Amino acid sequence: MSFKDLKLNKPILRAVAEAGYDNPTLVQEQTIPLILEGKDVITSAQTGTGKTAAFALPILQMLYDKQVAPKKGKKIRALIVSPTRELAIQIAKNFVTYASHTDLRSAVVYGGTSIEPQKDILKKGIDILVATPGRLLDLHKQDLLNLDFIETFVLDEADLMLDMGFIDDVKKIERLCPDTKQTLLFSATMPFKVEQLASTILKDPERIEVTPTSSAAKNVSQILYYVPKKSKIELCLHVLRNTIEGNILIFRRTKFGVDKLHETLINNDFTAERLHGDRSQNERQNALADFKRGKVNILIATDVAARGIDINELDAVINFDLPNVPETYVHRIGRTGRAGEFGSSYSFCSADEKPYVKAIQQLINVQIPLEENHPYPLDPKAQPIVHKKQGSKYRKGRKGEGSKKKKKRWY
Ligand code: AMP
Repeated sequence: MSFKDLKLNKPILRAVAEAGYDNPTLVQEQTIPLILEGKDVITSAQTGTGKTAAFALPILQMLYDKQVAPKKGKKIRALIVSPTRELAIQIAKNFVTYASHTDLRSAVVYGGTSIEPQKDILKKGIDILVATPGRLLDLHKQDLLNLDFIETFVLDEADLMLDMGFIDDVKKIERLCPDTKQTLLFSATMPFKVEQLASTILKDPERIEVTPTSSAAKNVSQILYYVPKKSKIELCLHVLRNTIEGNILIFRRTKFGVDKLHETLINNDFTAERLHGDRSQNERQNALADFKRGKVNILIATDVAARGIDINELDAVINFDLPNVPETYVHRIGRTGRAGEFGSSYSFCSADEKPYVKAIQQLINVQIPLEENHPYPLDPKAQPIVHKKQGSKYRKGRKGEGSKKKKKRWY
C-alpha cells in the first residue's frame, strides 16, 4: 500500500515524501482511513511504529480540507495531549514537518518553563495544539486558550498518562472540549484502567492493535541473569565490559537509581547520560541529543522519561530493575530490534523480583533464556566464573547471545 492509496492530499503527500517515507507503516495503514472517516479510534501501538504520523497526517488533512477563512482568525481545532515535555515537543516537530506545504500552524505548550512565550504564540493563533496536561489547564484557567472549537482530541500514551496520575486532568480537558469532537486514544499497553477511561470518553470506537503487547519482538534476543540486588551494579559493569557493544538503553525504576548508576559508569570510564523527571528540560534534551548523535553510547532512564522517545539504532536494552507491569517489559525490549535490525535485551533479576519474571514469562509465553555463567550468581553455592579483564572495553558479543557486531566505535 502507498500513501496515495490512503487518499491523502497533495501537500501532505509532498511532506511525507520529503520526510523520506516510502510507504505507510502498519499502524498508519490501519488507522488513517478510520480517522479520515471521522471515527473515534483506540490504537494500541508502541513508539517506533509510526503512530505519530498515523494521527498527525489525517488530522492535517481534515483541517486542510475544512479551512476556516483567515479573516476569522485561527482557532485551535486539534488538540493532542501528551504526558511528557519531550513527547510533546517530538509530536509538535512532526506536525511542523507534515504541515510544511500547508498554512496550518501548530504550537506546543508544556510545564517546567516560562509561560510567557507560550502565551505569545497562542495569541498569534494556531490550528493545532500539542500540550502536557498541567500547563494546558493552567493556560485555560487564565483564559489564554479556547477549546470550544476542538474537532479532534488525541490522547497519546494514555497508559503513561494514567501511571503519572493525570487521569483527573485528562477527564477535565476532555470535558472542556465540545461533545461533538472526534477522540483518538493511543497507548503502548492496554491495561484495564485505560480501557475504563476509553469507555468513558470515546464513542463507539474502532480498535486497532498493531503490536500485540504480549508478543515480544522476534528479532530481539532475551537473556535473564539472576543476581543479588547488591551486586547488580557489578553485573552491569561486567556485561558492559564483556558482553554488549553499541548503543545501550538501561532502565532503572527510580530517579535515584538512575543517578547512582550513572555516577558509577562515569567513574568506570564509560560515556553515559541520564534521563529522569528531576532533571531540567534542558538537561534532558541535551542528554538525549548526546545519545542520539553518539557522543555517549549509554543512556540510563526511568520508564517515564524514556517512554515514547524516538531513538533509532539501539543495539541493546538492559533491564537493570525488572518492571512490575509485565507489558512494560515488552515495551522496553521493543525499543531495540527496530526496522528489522537485531537487538538484544538483558534483564537483571534479584530475589524479590522473581514474581515479575514469572508474570513476564506468562505474558510473552516464552521462557527467557538464563545466563548462569556470570560472576554474581544469586545462588551463593553456584561456582562464580573468573572474570578475565579484557584489553578493550568491549568484546564481541558472545555466541548465542544475539549481540550485534558493529564496526562503528563509540569512543
Ligand atoms: P513514532 O512511532 O511516531 O515515534 O515514529 C517513529 C519513527 O518512524 C519516526 O522517526 C518517524 O519519523 C518514522 N516514520 C513514521 N512513519 C514512517 C513511514 N511511513 N516510513 C518511514 N518512517 C516513518
